[in-house]
Amino acid sequence: MEILVINAGSSSLKYQLINVETGGVLAKGLAERIGMDGSNIVHSWTKNGNENKKEICLDLPDHTVAFNTISDLLVSEETGVIQQREDIKAIGHRVVHGGEHYTQTQIVTSEVKEAIKELIPLAPLHNPANLIGINAAEKAFPNATQVAVFDTAFHHTMPEKAFRYAIPEKYYREDRIRTYGFHGTSHKYVYEQASKHLDKTDLKAITIHLGNGASMCAINEKGESVETSMGFGPLAGLIMGTRSGDIDPSIIFHMAEEMNMSLEEIKNVLNKQSGMLGITGSNDARDVSKLYHEGDKHAILCYEMYTHRIKKYIGAYTAVLNGVDTIIFTAGIGENDALTRQLSCSNLSGLGIVINEAANISKNHPKQPVEIQAENSPVKILVIPTNEELEIALQTWEVVR
Ligand code: ADP
Repeated sequence: MEILVINAGSSSLKYQLINVETGGVLAKGLAERIGMDGSNIVHSWTKNGNENKKEICLDLPDHTVAFNTISDLLVSEETGVIQQREDIKAIGHRVVHGGEHYTQTQIVTSEVKEAIKELIPLAPLHNPANLIGINAAEKAFPNATQVAVFDTAFHHTMPEKAFRYAIPEKYYREDRIRTYGFHGTSHKYVYEQASKHLDKTDLKAITIHLGNGASMCAINEKGESVETSMGFGPLAGLIMGTRSGDIDPSIIFHMAEEMNMSLEEIKNVLNKQSGMLGITGSNDARDVSKLYHEGDKHAILCYEMYTHRIKKYIGAYTAVLNGVDTIIFTAGIGENDALTRQLSCSNLSGLGIVINEAANISKNHPKQPVEIQAENSPVKILVIPTNEELEIALQTWEVVR
């Protein structure tokens, strides 16, 4: 069965057509600048074992037109991989915020759409775009079942002592202010891959997702998320490409009251000008790594700060889990940047974590789960390529099969 996986942004649509029996990607692509000048689609497909790619510049006034165009590409003689649009029986949508209520993958109904809309104040950047994607997909693929897979859902098992903030209770009860956590699909996927790889079902793990956004998760022996580093929103926790991660909230009051910055400016600084970008001038780990090796002092400080933060969370989560079996690195930086893994795991032998420096370098950028711990390390250190699209496809399949 083929499942179309959609990640809709306000002016973009990322898609993958996945065969869930084999896990193979038949076609994928990205439509960009929807509703703007200069819109285009980059479409890749696999035919007879060959990978092909085509860029098409065309007018995409809205998401429905983008879906119709993608659908035409999927069935066309030249770029297609299926016979007809109706072959797609289910579409899995990444939806960022499911709130407290949606703790599982859901078949989209008008009630689910209402809930996604109602949660817009909690995810003002993402949920509106996700909803536009769902509505457009319903129009373009009226015969397919639409399914919502929530980024927050995996963290619903966190205990109250972990998800509550120590502020007056009414802000939780009436205003829903609590930790939700994100990247749930990725944390769940790599945990399950690790469990298979190590052939151990009662695994205690710390998953470290390091992409442009970054978060960590403590997962107990039942496979449940019990702590995660992002909070009410995606600004908390680790240092990221352009986000600060944890800061003392007093800084915000100081910026507003003493430095006369507007809320909009402060939000912009903390979300878009901070993190690696704020420290080094680049938010791309490849640039920062190059500068580090050239001896640039800002890049060196950036790596020190970035990995010190990861280390603090490794320590905290080891305590929360009362010991850990495995640490898992994933996503763009976690999978490809040996230096980040090396520094994050250095001087942690007191916690039973010892990295094998040579393996860490030689097994960089793996296609399958790999182990990079030293022989004398009780804790396994894994690098696992994440695959959020496959996880969304599998979860979609679960509810429609
Ligand atoms: P997202 O999905 O959150 O947009 P990704 O998981 O694609 O992010 O990760 C993006 C990050 O991964 C960027 O900082 C990029 O520099 C980094 N990255 C990608 N490839 C490499 C590499 N070969 N070496 C170091 N960092 C890399």
